Amino acid sequence: MLKAQVFTLYPEVFPGPLTKGLYGKALANKLWDLSVINIRDSATDKHKTVDDTPYGGGSGMLLKADVLANSLDQNVKKGERIFYLSPKGKKFDHKLAQDLSKEKSISIICGHFEGVDERVLSTRNIEEISIGDYVLSGGETAALVVLDSVIRFLPGVLGNDKSSIDETFENGLLEYPQYTKPQIWEKKSVPKVLLSGDHSKIKDWRLSQSEAITRDRRPDLWQKYKKN
Ligand code: SAH
Repeated sequence: MLKAQVFTLYPEVFPGPLTKGLYGKALANKLWDLSVINIRDSATDKHKTVDDTPYGGGSGMLLKADVLANSLDQNVKKGERIFYLSPKGKKFDHKLAQDLSKEKSISIICGHFEGVDERVLSTRNIEEISIGDYVLSGGETAALVVLDSVIRFLPGVLGNDKSSIDETFENGLLEYPQYTKPQIWEKKSVPKVLLSGDHSKIKDWRLSQSEAITRDRRPDLWQKYKKN
């Protein structure tokens, strides 16, 4: 079982969409577990202050190192990996999602305002990860993205354990196009090869479609794929 902990100023955001469908079932069946920790509970003054202005000037506020560190120290066990969601972080991807699904527990910090005091990142050995080259108002949506992509790798979560195997990124390619009933819709038929029952032909067709789509849309992935 994967035990995830999220540190946030907005605990009501979680588990949000992660309780829907197969993930909700998986949560009920204890294939994963989520604790949501309100960073504000670790503030020590009577106003429960969590942020302050940056030294050196500049706009906005920063999450205070002492408050965040208190929250982490009370809840994270030694040796557990801690992630801070940040646009400056290492780019989060399929491979990291898969790696994290093998951990026993992960802790994720959602930032707010202008970010967090840098000192807490180094003293608590925190790994910074970004979900993409754009800036969000807070880390909560990013945490949901990370958890969503990690949970699907947990054994038993997807109805069919094979269903993640063919998926986009799994073999370095984007997924081929898919079709379901009705066979003819708005005068368009599904590709004939898919009706042929010839599994090796279907496999070849799907691979060639995947390759064409990847070459067209993602030259970066295509270059890597060609090298392997
Ligand atoms: N001043 C910071 C941005 C702060 S955005 C900078 O320029 O680097 C506020 C919070 O949103 C961050 O603390 C982070 O937790 C979250 N966030 C914003 N963009 C993100 C991204 N691309 N990936 C992950 N988290 C992000």
